[in-house]
Amino acid sequence: MKKYDYLIVGSGLFGSVFAYEANKRGKKVLVIDKRDHIGGNCYTKNEDGIVVHVYGAHIFHTSKLDTWDYVNNLTPFKPFINSPIANYKGELYNLPFNMNTFYQLWKVKTPQEALEKIQSTRVDYKDPKNLEEQALKLAGKDIYEKLIKGYTEKQWGRDCKDLPSFIIKRVPLRMTFDNNYFNDTYQGIPFGGYTKLFEALLKDIEVRLNIDYFSNKEELDSLADKIVYTGPIDAFFNYSLGKLEYRTVEFKNERHNIESYQGNAVVNYTDRETPWTRIIEHKHFEGNITDFTIISKEYSIAWDESKEPYYPVNDEKNSTLFNKYLELTKDTPNVIFGGRLGQYKYYNMDQVIEVALDVVNKEFR
Ligand code: FAD
Repeated sequence: MKKYDYLIVGSGLFGSVFAYEANKRGKKVLVIDKRDHIGGNCYTKNEDGIVVHVYGAHIFHTSKLDTWDYVNNLTPFKPFINSPIANYKGELYNLPFNMNTFYQLWKVKTPQEALEKIQSTRVDYKDPKNLEEQALKLAGKDIYEKLIKGYTEKQWGRDCKDLPSFIIKRVPLRMTFDNNYFNDTYQGIPFGGYTKLFEALLKDIEVRLNIDYFSNKEELDSLADKIVYTGPIDAFFNYSLGKLEYRTVEFKNERHNIESYQGNAVVNYTDRETPWTRIIEHKHFEGNITDFTIISKEYSIAWDESKEPYYPVNDEKNSTLFNKYLELTKDTPNVIFGGRLGQYKYYNMDQVIEVALDVVNKEFR
């Protein structure tokens, strides 16, 4: 008999939820992670009283009461409404696009006036050939040029004229004075940061950090009956069919000896010239009271293997390759592939919890 029922590779949300649920059902579980901390990309760190979102701003949002209750039963959440600001060459605008934004753009005061203004700046492309034409058709010239163009070009590292139109399917234009970025009913951040959530999930579970699964795969495999693998699926198969692509972000942190740097958690820089896409000021997520502040400048950069894989690129080429890897998983019945990297899919936190619970229900039915 093996020492563990499950070896879980990765202590991110997928691995930790699976571990928690398996442990609750009396299974023996070992979690490993190659990083020196638990929590995957949700990891937060307390730096002298400021909770820093180490891998970028994370705001939990869901409209499902079950999912909201699930996380709140593990650790209390503080309500937080994300209301980002856009900075375009020093002009400030509220996001998402709403009546406040339209007032700031054109001084219009009613939805009727705003709609007329938007309509007058739209360009009626019958069949938009690229992202620029699509955005001009949907949002009009002013919104596109000040709030979409530069930001999108920095995110993708390409001109909007060279990006496919399908990237923007619709541009939500809110005809109310409402700066709430997400439409979900429940939104918040754990008091004290996400690491609290992971500490609760992994409370009774053996966790070994700084262990790369592939550095000792055979020995680790021999410890457990089944493996839950949440790393990149192509790495599991030794990239035998080729490498999947990702997009990534680089974070540069700065500490400033002032109480507040920008007065808001998130400011997007929507011009092309400013090299960063956003500045996050961490203390505003939870209202940490300190006489200094910590900000992160986010730079959207091309991915290579030396960088963290953040966003799967779900275009045709990569989706086809992923499906080929999926075929290979049929020959590894004792391995469950889960999470953002294992399933090569961008999941929000609520979604990854729901997918993990579905897998748990199938595994332990
Ligand atoms: P991960 O968190 O990536 O966990 C995988 C773990 O596996 C990692 O800890 C990794 O070190 C480990 N691992 C990989 N390979 C190995 C190996 N060979 N050996 C050992 N360990 C290994 N979601 C929201 O809902 N709201 C947000 O505001 C939000 N903002 C985001 C901002 C950014 C910049 C990013 C990148 C994501 C954001 N998300 C957000 C999504 C959220 O981060 C994911 O839903 C969640 O982290 C996915 O969890 P996971 O377990 O699938 O993956």
